Amino acid sequence: MKKLDASIIIAFKNAIGEENVIIDHDKLIFYATDHSIAQAVVPQLVVLPSTTEMVSEIMKICYANEVPITVRAGGSGLVGGAVPTHGGIVMDIKKMDKILQIDEANFQVTVEPAMITEVLQNTLKSRGLYYPPDPSSRGTSFIGGNVATNAGGPRAVKYGVVREYVLNLEVVLPDGRIIWTGANTLKNSTGYSLTQLMIGSEGTLGIITKIVLKLIPHPTHDLLLLAPFMSVKDASKAVSAIFKAGITPSAIGELMDRKAIDWAADYLELDRMDIGDTIKAQLLIEVDGFEIDQLQKECEKIYEVLSQFEVDEILFADSAAQKNELWKLRRNIANAVKVHKTYKKEDTVVPRDHMPQLLEAIEQLEIKYGFDAICFGHAGDGNLHINIVQGDRTDEEVKHWHQALVDLLLTVKKLGGTLSGEHGIGIVQKEFMPLMLDRANLELMKGIKSVFDPKNILNPEKIF
Ligand SMILES: Cc1cc2nc3c(=O)[nH]c(=O)nc-3n(C[C@H](O)[C@H](O)[C@H](O)COP(=O)(O)OP(=O)(O)OC[C@H]3O[C@@H](n4cnc5c(N)ncnc54)[C@H](O)[C@@H]3O)c2cc1C
Repeated sequence: MKKLDASIIIAFKNAIGEENVIIDHDKLIFYATDHSIAQAVVPQLVVLPSTTEMVSEIMKICYANEVPITVRAGGSGLVGGAVPTHGGIVMDIKKMDKILQIDEANFQVTVEPAMITEVLQNTLKSRGLYYPPDPSSRGTSFIGGNVATNAGGPRAVKYGVVREYVLNLEVVLPDGRIIWTGANTLKNSTGYSLTQLMIGSEGTLGIITKIVLKLIPHPTHDLLLLAPFMSVKDASKAVSAIFKAGITPSAIGELMDRKAIDWAADYLELDRMDIGDTIKAQLLIEVDGFEIDQLQKECEKIYEVLSQFEVDEILFADSAAQKNELWKLRRNIANAVKVHKTYKKEDTVVPRDHMPQLLEAIEQLEIKYGFDAICFGHAGDGNLHINIVQGDRTDEEVKHWHQALVDLLLTVKKLGGTLSGEHGIGIVQKEFMPLMLDRANLELMKGIKSVFDPKNILNPEKIF
């Protein structure tokens, strides 16, 4: 790691003000990790810009001096994207957190990247407007981080992921130039889509400083069902059956396998027995819309479909308190897993109908390699979060599990799936990119990176 020259530190202070530059080691430590298992790396310096122009000035200094830089948003990433692996500097964008314009006539909002997703959603809701992408981390993650990772969430199954809502982006390029990637229009066929290229680029191509999002009217009603199943495979087959019956729930297959249920119950200090021994999985199913009668009819139809499977008593919620109660277990699985040392978190995605085969393959790998996998996720999208728990085992004891990951990912590929449905690649998943993508694909991606960032200063060592 090359040590930062004193003259560069002075240049940053002159460009954006001393108060916006952190060099105190105790404060720098905060920036060494995100929510992933990536190895912690303390940056040498942190800059806190509050305007696009400041971001541009910072980038000009980095570019001229070939200083590596990593942007950090909410730090909730699960693949180490915001970790300054190379030990250079971190740009904390938290001061750029404003809504700049709500254009109700055109159903658009322009925001700065550090707006917390949930805060944006609540503000828009009070005006009857809806920005649907809702990662479970929406209380802490930033909209800029969501765009940079192309985040998903439970409601992606009906409304789609972040990619579907971004119309235009202001971006600062590695050399400091400022561009808009597109136009604030619903259609745009003007050359390559730089907007779409930036979405999911994980801070490797440019720094997103303004975001124009497409909005829709906010649904006025929603209803929630919780279906307990005797088998996890039945639960995942029921997901496809609901779609085949012509219903598109606003969230479905918030699937929890038995281990995930038990872990979340223990974390919340609930009695496991209350859930019933025979229950092996639960599905959360939500419908939303503007007519309550229509939603009730949809629920009846869902009941009909579910009754073709071995299900226990289906719970129904229409009040906010009841809904919170039903979501409680699902929302706490990640917290429950966090208490234990995790060997690896996978974010695999397969075509929805192949989920039962994926679950079966995981069971076989658990037996073969002797590990516990806590599985939950967005079954409606075929997106399964597989948490392999290390617990008290030493690194030496779990060394052979690496082969289990390779076996798992090759199975995912065979099922027509891929490595990440919504968390991205960052540093944690990059070793598996050649397993998933052809050499030609990787060469094209690397070529794009070198056009945007010829000096490789923006979040180097990430993705590939
Ligand atoms: C409990 C929990 C639940 C989660 N649930 C979900 C879920 O349901 N769906 C989902 O998709 N993810 C989920 N995640 C993962 C994570 O929240 C998302 O990846 C989120 O989008 C990251 O946003 P962030 O603001 O925290 O970004 P960070 O972690 O700070 O950064 C993520 C990446 O984006 C880059 N970046 C950040 N800001 C910018 C910018 N302005 N310009 C360019 N690059 C930038 C960073 O360099 C980094 O590579 C969850 C995480 C946790 C801890």
